Amino acid sequence: MLQTPFTCGKCGSTAVRKNGSRNGQPKYQCTTCRHQALFVPAAVGKAVQYAQVELLLLERVSQRAIVRLTGVSRPTIVKLAKKSADHTAVAAQTEPAPGTRTG
Ligand SMILES: [Zn+2]
Repeated sequence: MLQTPFTCGKCGSTAVRKNGSRNGQPKYQCTTCRHQALFVPAAVGKAVQYAQVELLLLERVSQRAIVRLTGVSRPTIVKLAKKSADHTAVAAQTEPAPGTRTG
């Protein structure tokens, strides 16, 4: 059986197999309940997960807590934290960073 990251939208089973294609997108059929659909690829789910991770990073939730909450691996969270830190560094150049007082 083909190992896919998809789950059936009807019964939640992970036992799905490829069953042709429509408009160039592969169709999958659940072998448990015979439900057939164009399942959402894992990349879309991951994008939603990564957006949630970035929100949690902004709230200054610890990396290990984010792992527990979202299931995203810690190296991925570190990568996203560095990426968002680069974005905030550009924004911080216009205003002084908190905790740095002069005088
Ligand atoms: Zn099913």
